[in-house]
Amino acid sequence: LASKLPQVGTTIFTVMSALAAEHNAVNLGQGFPDFACDPALVDAVTAAMQAGHNQYPPMTGVPALREAVSAKIEALHGRRYDPASEITITAGATQAIITAILAVVHPGDEVIVLDPCYDSYVPNIELAGGRAVRVPLTPGSFRPDFGKISAAITPHTRAILINSPHNPSATVWSAEDMQALQDLLAPTDILLISDEVYEHMVFDGGQHQSAARFAGLAARAFIVSSFGKTFHVTGWKVGTVAAPAALTAEFRKVHQFNVFTVNTPVQHGLASYLKDPAPYLQLPAFYQAKRDLFREGLAGSRLKLLPSTGSYFQCVDISAVSDLNESDFCQWLTREIGVAAIPLSAFYGDGFDQRVVRFCFAKKDDTLRAALERLRKL
Ligand code: PMP
Ligand code: GLN
Repeated sequence: LASKLPQVGTTIFTVMSALAAEHNAVNLGQGFPDFACDPALVDAVTAAMQAGHNQYPPMTGVPALREAVSAKIEALHGRRYDPASEITITAGATQAIITAILAVVHPGDEVIVLDPCYDSYVPNIELAGGRAVRVPLTPGSFRPDFGKISAAITPHTRAILINSPHNPSATVWSAEDMQALQDLLAPTDILLISDEVYEHMVFDGGQHQSAARFAGLAARAFIVSSFGKTFHVTGWKVGTVAAPAALTAEFRKVHQFNVFTVNTPVQHGLASYLKDPAPYLQLPAFYQAKRDLFREGLAGSRLKLLPSTGSYFQCVDISAVSDLNESDFCQWLTREIGVAAIPLSAFYGDGFDQRVVRFCFAKKDDTLRAALERLRKL
């Protein structure tokens, strides 16, 4: 059989979680919380099931949830998206991203991605018959290099994919970065896919700069979000896409044949839970405390901390600890030290190895302490 994705194996997250389980390691690899979500959210979903919301919802999503998402975006970013024609509920951000790509990328089109990038982007582009053009973020700082991005634009460029707060580097784009992207794209018809799944995890008083805040970006953007990240329910796989009506219409043409629609009772539960903004407004402080606990725990170790200003990840430089490459180091760390991490090289097209690995701190404080006890021996 001729593979459609000959270069692709099993995702690093699945590989490292399996290795962590096999070796009884503390799993700071794959990004997911190990603590419970708010019981009120479970109650809201249970109540929706008991009220009989168990058949197909509308293809585009439960109206009350689309309205709640629209209201949230307007309150936070000052842009109104019409719930009927501009908001769609998806099976997580993963489906939102592949569906947006399948909807707009024609065979032979180029899509710019910024390396390191989330592992689904490039295979998604290739499945659409497109070509991923990988532009590196600046090594070390992970800042966008607009000169390099500009140089990568050709008449075939259909779209650019960005992600802030960023997985894996834990950096956050500033308003100036978004403005620079807006200026760069202004004379073009290049579309934007803005992966904002960590939108509520920005630390130290910083602010998430959604593409919704920038008229020139919003007009060309699919803005992708994930309830799994925001409400500690990654297994529920529900996300959203906000996009202008013309883009949403194309998105929905694919969405209806991709999944048709998404889990009804969870959508109803989320719609009622979203009435209270407190759970997501508290998220920066909640995760900042975990980041600080983890960073303070590593401060005396030979793992060198990189900045973490957003997302729930902490990257460290391993060069003072080991000569192994990132991937071998993560295997060794899991097997011998009992802590799983993710090599950054897994997020680069060419496996670029800068001796940096990623830990996820979306864990109970006790889990983080157990990991720190092991990591401090390094
Ligand atoms: N984009 C990024 C940057 C992510 O880190 C993740 C999840 N780890 C996703 C998309 C996928 O989100 P979901 O689980 O909602 O599909
Ligand atoms: N996005 C999560 C991470 O970066 C994992 C999601 C997955 O396992 N596909 O760790």
